[in-house]
Amino acid sequence: MITTKDLTKVYRSRGREVTALDGVDLHVREGEVYGVVGTSGAGKSTLIRCVNMLERPSSGSVTVDGVELNALPGQEHRAGRDLREARRRIGMVFQHFNLLSSRTVQQNVELPLEIIGLDRTQRHRKAAELLDLVGLADKARNYPGQLSGGQKQRVGIARALAGDPKVLLSDEATSALDPETTRSILSLLRDLNRQLGLTVLLITHEMDVIKSVCDSAALMRGGKVIESGGLTELLATR
Ligand code: ADP
Ligand code: ADP
Repeated sequence: MITTKDLTKVYRSRGREVTALDGVDLHVREGEVYGVVGTSGAGKSTLIRCVNMLERPSSGSVTVDGVELNALPGQEHRAGRDLREARRRIGMVFQHFNLLSSRTVQQNVELPLEIIGLDRTQRHRKAAELLDLVGLADKARNYPGQLSGGQKQRVGIARALAGDPKVLLSDEATSALDPETTRSILSLLRDLNRQLGLTVLLITHEMDVIKSVCDSAALMRGGKVIESGGLTELLATR
């Protein structure tokens, strides 16, 4: 479902070069929860940002659901039509939720639906359905500031699912949460993975997250994958 081949990203800042990704080959199968773990600076954020072309790789390829994204023109806010289309099939969840504080929970979830072009009635119906799915039906009219961290992340997940993505990318989704809330969010991700057949690629600096929810994982260090495979075999070797 997600394949990267020889993915490399070199940043140039103030005349210095930083190789954030150094030939990363990743293979995430349809319907699995795949974790990438590594300490700060290993290249995890760069990897996940290259997978949805928020960041354009320096070389190598990224294929999501059969579409080679690096071959499509544009990135981030300047994405061409084909890339925007492909991106709709990729949901993204963030560490700090990235919700709009001046909009209600319902409006936050409706925003991507508006961009897709759904009319009011359709948006209401879809947002209600999504909030129900993440267990927040009763918070639709609240503002993000009135919610706990875990509830905010549920809104972030509902919003990420608005375009009916086949793939969900999670960038340290539980790093700002306490252990109990972390467990509930991870179990929500697992439920969505099973119920919707959603493929999940998550990055984390915590091995416990990998152990509790992933089918497969890759360990990154210095921009490279130094170990990868099914979770049982990975844990057997340590
Ligand atoms: P991680 O997510 O594992 O902490 P990152 O992907 O954020 O790692 O960073 C990998 C390396 O790339 C680090 O050395 C980081 O400082 C560098 N880096 C990340 N983003 C940029 C950027 N926009 N400009 C320059 N260097 C960057
Ligand atoms: P994370 O917690 O995801 O590793 P960081 O704090 O490393 O986040 O990075 C936050 C933002 O700053 C990202 O957009 C990343 O690309 C950028 N960034 C990281 N390291 C550098 C760097 N050395 N120079 C410039 N930008 C960087």
